[in-house]
Amino acid sequence: MAPTGTRSRFVLLALFCIAMFSFLLLEGHREPPGFPSPIEQAKHSGSGGAQSGAVLTGHAIAPKLGNATAKAELGRAAWKVLHTTFARFPEKPTEEEKEALRSYVHLFQRLYPCGECAEHFGKVLAKYPPQVSSRSAAAMWGCMVHNIVNKRLHKPEFNCENIGDAYDCGCGDEEGKDKDKAGAPA
Ligand SMILES: Cc1cc2nc3c(=O)[nH]c(=O)nc-3n(C[C@H](O)[C@H](O)[C@H](O)COP(=O)(O)OP(=O)(O)OC[C@H]3O[C@@H](n4cnc5c(N)ncnc54)[C@H](O)[C@@H]3O)c2cc1C
Repeated sequence: MAPTGTRSRFVLLALFCIAMFSFLLLEGHREPPGFPSPIEQAKHSGSGGAQSGAVLTGHAIAPKLGNATAKAELGRAAWKVLHTTFARFPEKPTEEEKEALRSYVHLFQRLYPCGECAEHFGKVLAKYPPQVSSRSAAAMWGCMVHNIVNKRLHKPEFNCENIGDAYDCGCGDEEGKDKDKAGAPA
């Protein structure tokens, strides 16, 4: 049988090892300094769990897209998605739906695959933040910011008065019926 002194030293060593192991385990789960966890971001965003400002308004992520043909093709498709999104947004959105659209537009800008376009569009968003109070407000805002890009590229101004008709995608708009369908398998 081991002497009492040796046994207590062994117990102390075992306790020390367990403490060190737990400490290292906890440290490993911490985010690097300066990068708050999603939970921390949500706590400080003041918008019920939406992404924080840094994620939404940080630098444009994609590199420069030099090819003019690819840039124009991408632009036409992207505008179509954006305007159609606004045209299908609820006329009376919930607070959570408004936050979803706001975040979507900001992330759309940050991640837009043409870096130089995203850079410029970021400045437009900083000056004219997305309008998310209703479908009409969002659609008018979309038309207005598209016109800002048109002006910069020396393209004709689009008449925003009939923006509602311009992006009626023919998808139907029967309240309730379409909402039920949205959850159904394709
Ligand atoms: C967010 C964003 C930023 C961009 N930034 C740049 C950039 O910095 N440099 C660059 O070279 N290209 C940029 N582009 C692409 C550019 O805007 C055009 O899409 C591209 O030049 C093709 O132009 P287009 O003349 O075919 O018509 P587009 O401008 O693509 O428009 C497509 C169609 O939308 C309709 N339309 C036009 N104006 C409006 C409006 N105000 N509201 C609603 N509908 C309208 C018209 O029917 C038009 O034919 C950007 C695109 C996006 C989505």
